[in-house]
Amino acid sequence: MFPFTLERPGDADSAARLGSAPSAEYIAGGTDMMQLLTDEIRQPEHLVALDGVLDDRIEAAPGGTLRLGAAAKMSDIAADPDVSRAFPAIAEALLLSASGQVRNMATIGGNLLQRTRCPYFRDPGVSACNKRYPGSGCAAMDGANRTHAVLGGSAHCIATHASDVAVALVALDAEIHVLGSNGGRVVPLDELHRLPGETPHLETVLEPGELITAVVVPPSPAARHSHYLKVRDRVSFEFALTSAAVALDVDDGTIREARVAVGGVGTKPWRLRTVENALTGRIDDVDSYRAAAEHATEGAVTRAGNRFKLELMKRTIVRALREAGGRS
Ligand SMILES: Cc1cc2nc3c(=O)[nH]c(=O)nc-3n(C[C@H](O)[C@H](O)[C@H](O)COP(=O)(O)OP(=O)(O)OC[C@H]3O[C@@H](n4cnc5c(N)ncnc54)[C@H](O)[C@@H]3O)c2cc1C
Ligand code: SF4
Repeated sequence: MFPFTLERPGDADSAARLGSAPSAEYIAGGTDMMQLLTDEIRQPEHLVALDGVLDDRIEAAPGGTLRLGAAAKMSDIAADPDVSRAFPAIAEALLLSASGQVRNMATIGGNLLQRTRCPYFRDPGVSACNKRYPGSGCAAMDGANRTHAVLGGSAHCIATHASDVAVALVALDAEIHVLGSNGGRVVPLDELHRLPGETPHLETVLEPGELITAVVVPPSPAARHSHYLKVRDRVSFEFALTSAAVALDVDDGTIREARVAVGGVGTKPWRLRTVENALTGRIDDVDSYRAAAEHATEGAVTRAGNRFKLELMKRTIVRALREAGGRS
């Protein structure tokens, strides 16, 4: 591990100031950051600790809006009765993430900003990784790319975004509250993560030092009938090959509103508005789900190892919609 100073700010404003220094990084639960420090993938000169600085409250306002303090633990959010009742896809996505031990340490803010699980990114012995060393190439393009993205990739990077709960939150129109040394702002979660393009090392729209302070999710009839389905190689401790977060508002057998986002297939949590549009106004049945899911692969680009994800993604969406349809 490279040497660094550990800063322990007393409040969020001080953290944002310290975090904006060159070569400063934040650490929250540390479940991702510690691994990257140990493997020397991240080499900050200053590490700014967020424990005790950001709030961990889980609050449902009277109108139903859900607010998660950025320091709220994954396990606490998953166990919260208001979350499971009004936003089941969020609780389900969290319970299908990592392990009980990791969820007890990991925060929602850190989860949204965890780094990709591309094995080449995480292997210090690999030098061709544009995300780590801009301009060095991409070992995944012609290497082992079974787990890589089919949506949103570029000639420079095809790494998937790893978070499960981000997929559910994007489907449910969540926003993040952000604090920087120049004040606060609100960012729709769907706009937080950048596409890799020619600059895969720039992963989010956050400015240096900007902190996530809270995640806010609006209530909706569809959110109450939401579901998260994850398909993976083994049932525990594994990232998604494909996943789908769906939500349906059905009125008298007709779909009034649909939300669909997918994970494990995109370079960011991937909202599928064409699938949503194809569902809206249709009869709530499996034929409508299958017809709409055909739109999911529009614009997809596959590599040698990940072609199977196209069919798997469509089937994942249909199965998730069947479950959500049964809840509406
Ligand atoms: C074995 C294992 C299996 C896993 N499986 C899954 C899985 O199946 N699904 C899944 O979704 N995740 C999985 N994860 C990832 C896990 O969910 C993340 O490591 C965790 O959520 C990160 O949260 P943290 O608080 O520990 O963040 P940290 O590790 O402390 O930080 C992660 C990143 O976020 C930044 N950061 C943290 N908080 C803030 C903030 N408030 N504002 C700005 N920046 C911040 C840090 O600088 C760092 O870059 C797994 C992890 C492990 C170790
Ligand atoms: S896919 Fe992205 S993260 Fe993986 S090796 Fe290529 S550039 Fe690096």
